[in-house]
Amino acid sequence: MPVLIVIETENNALKRNAAEVASYGVALAAKLETSCTAIAFHAANANELGHYSVTQVAHVSNGPKHFDAHAYASEIADFAGKNNVSHIVISSSADARFLAPLLAAKLNAGYAPNAVKIPVELSPLTVKRTAFTNKAFTYTQLLGDCNIIGVGNNAFGVIENTVDCIVEEIKAENANSNLEQVSIEKITGKATIADADVVVSGGRGLKGPENWHLVEDLAEVLDAATACSKPVSDMGWRSHDEHVGQTGKPVATNLYIAIGISGAIQHLAGVNSSKVKVVINSDPEAPFFKAADYGIVGDAFEIVPKLTEKLKAFKALG
Ligand SMILES: Cc1cc2nc3c(=O)[nH]c(=O)nc-3n(C[C@H](O)[C@H](O)[C@H](O)COP(=O)(O)OP(=O)(O)OC[C@H]3O[C@@H](n4cnc5c(N)ncnc54)[C@H](O)[C@@H]3O)c2cc1C
Repeated sequence: MPVLIVIETENNALKRNAAEVASYGVALAAKLETSCTAIAFHAANANELGHYSVTQVAHVSNGPKHFDAHAYASEIADFAGKNNVSHIVISSSADARFLAPLLAAKLNAGYAPNAVKIPVELSPLTVKRTAFTNKAFTYTQLLGDCNIIGVGNNAFGVIENTVDCIVEEIKAENANSNLEQVSIEKITGKATIADADVVVSGGRGLKGPENWHLVEDLAEVLDAATACSKPVSDMGWRSHDEHVGQTGKPVATNLYIAIGISGAIQHLAGVNSSKVKVVINSDPEAPFFKAADYGIVGDAFEIVPKLTEKLKAFKALG
């Protein structure tokens, strides 16, 4: 029975996580020796999934224009039922965590978010995934006739391989939404923590909000999102939506730069999934260095402006 890959979209285009979810779905289908199809709502560039070995996309071009978990779950469940889908692959984004349990309830399916690799066993389906905010791994057995796997952000990676991709337009049968999007206020020109490839984060070592230009200047040159430790947002130096860690937002970027952050376990719990961690701290004994890929021991007020200038000069070279 085939694999169904649920692709997230925004502004009529594929989201960044589409590449990883597609790569996982194709790899899972290969392991199961079955076919796979992707389903996407409102994606003008749905055929770009062909860059990740996806040969078929069911494209829903009617229905709610903006993400509506209930309406999308009904449509995906219908599609999965009609096509005898046995495995559904989705991301582990906030939207996916809203959608997947609704879908699981409709299909009486098992659901495991935060998968870090292709299932270790196919029967019973056993998924290795992170638990306790990334402090442990767990092996979860999914026992439904249909099962849903949520791929952890940056956990599996992207496998590029271009194939011909056929996009079939389908009409949503459950096109109605109980939600009306009245307005969207978007902060422009600034990457969000969830979507950014790079996050530059500051802690109490920066002494006060007046010094945040160090973080912002470095973030600007790297096209990065800005983040902070919990005390920084608690003290009102930065807004709460920048707080990352166990009780804040999780970060799973390609590059996480921590400036003046000690690396307390609650902070690390939320940022450990980032691929490369760079730590700038004046205390060589700061716990963050143990988790870092690269560390700079020194005063952030000297190092960060120099780093920003060097990166600007490097970028100017083209
Ligand atoms: C239940 C619970 C949940 C929590 N959840 C979170 C969470 O989600 N996220 C989170 O971040 N915290 C969380 N915390 C708080 C956490 O335990 C730490 O207190 C917090 O992460 C420390 O923040 P910090 O590293 O910015 O500050 P500090 O611990 O004060 O560290 C500041 C660092 O800056 C360095 N420094 C000082 N001056 C300079 C300089 N000039 N240049 C370079 N480095 C310098 C210091 O050496 C030090 O390592 C939680 C705590 C609890 C109890």
